[in-house]
Amino acid sequence: MSNPLHHDVAIAGAGIVGASVAWHLAKAGLRVAVIDAEGPAAAASGASDGAVSVASKKPGPLARLASASLLYTRDLAAQGLLAEAFHARPSFVFGRGTAELAALDTLIDKLRQIAGPVRVTGDGTAAALPGLGPEVERLVTMTGEGHMPGHKAVRAYLDHPAITPIWPAKIVEIGSDDAGVTIDLGNRRLRVGQLVVALGVSTSTLFPFLPISPRAGQLFVTDRGPVDALPGSLTAAAYLVAKTETCGNLDLPPVVIDPLRTGQFLVGSSRENHADPHRVDFATLCQLMRRAAGAFPALSERRVIRAFAGVRAAVSDNLPIVGCRSGDPRITFATGFEGDGICLSALVGHEVARMVRGLAPTEALAADLAMLSPDRFFSIAREVRA
Ligand SMILES: Cc1cc2nc3c(=O)[nH]c(=O)nc-3n(C[C@H](O)[C@H](O)[C@H](O)COP(=O)(O)OP(=O)(O)OC[C@H]3O[C@@H](n4cnc5c(N)ncnc54)[C@H](O)[C@@H]3O)c2cc1C
Repeated sequence: MSNPLHHDVAIAGAGIVGASVAWHLAKAGLRVAVIDAEGPAAAASGASDGAVSVASKKPGPLARLASASLLYTRDLAAQGLLAEAFHARPSFVFGRGTAELAALDTLIDKLRQIAGPVRVTGDGTAAALPGLGPEVERLVTMTGEGHMPGHKAVRAYLDHPAITPIWPAKIVEIGSDDAGVTIDLGNRRLRVGQLVVALGVSTSTLFPFLPISPRAGQLFVTDRGPVDALPGSLTAAAYLVAKTETCGNLDLPPVVIDPLRTGQFLVGSSRENHADPHRVDFATLCQLMRRAAGAFPALSERRVIRAFAGVRAAVSDNLPIVGCRSGDPRITFATGFEGDGICLSALVGHEVARMVRGLAPTEALAADLAMLSPDRFFSIAREVRA
């Protein structure tokens, strides 16, 4: 009898998370379709800083999962899959003033506790790195982290013969039953065995019960210059604070300067509570530029050639949503990654592919992954109703 399903699994969303899940499933021998309203890396994955960073993660499950994902990303790069996308480089975090200097102490403690692939190799002054400016009162140097432009990783993951691309095709409705999942694309319907929802900030349009809200960010890119002007990323401690909220908010702009392999600099990024990926404003960019140039004055000699914005998917409890909802095993969520999706994508792809195939999570990660279950929102809803 012929199989009535169009595909074993469909992935909703061709961002870095959906692409990674698709590649892991295709590699395991499943027939996979990837559906996107626009195309690969059309949303946040194509508009991010691209830091594969443990330093910027909130202590706890997120930092531990990021540490495991960094190691796995490095493996996938060494095996060739992500060789073009990922590159390892040192990372430098700087601070000035009491609150930023305290954030640097917190960072060092956190990395010591994780005892993972990221190591602090220096804790000193601006003199440790040539070319730094007055914004740098203290400089912490780390090894082990890397940079990965989202669009390059997406391209690498989707280049698998068992993946069927379906775009542009906007999903307007999703329904599941005992035998499969029906995906309504407006002008046609697809019937698949299972669905993985990797729709980023758009997830809540189709699944309004998930508490995901938009958090936009602006970035800019400079023209080309000498390739080794800066040996690694240079991040303000305020950026760690903005992401982890361990020390409250700072007035200093949370800037990250990442040197690209082209000799350009990618400088980001703000955090704004709106969903418009086209909103780029001069005042925010000037603020980023001023602090970036204060930390690395050679930047003021560069021209800004492009400014753009992206929208992160922020979950109400600041943790991503990964897994099935109890009672609906055919739909698996992999969404709500806020500013961490590039870093977590490799590991999440690996683990979600295991979930879809009915396998247990990797033992060492099971407890942390369980904290990301979508069920955490439904038990709250049940308690409130009771
Ligand atoms: C300014 C900025 C800086 C960042 N910096 C970093 C960083 O340094 N490190 C890091 O790890 N992360 C960073 N992030 C976060 C990271 O980019 C995201 O977490 C990650 O890209 C999310 O990937 P995703 O696949 O979940 O979602 P997305 O990339 O948003 O993909 C979702 C896809 O779903 C598609 N879609 C939406 N609705 C529908 C529909 N109805 N039907 C079909 N398709 C649909 C979209 O077209 C899109 O392609 C940053 C993000 C921003 C905005």
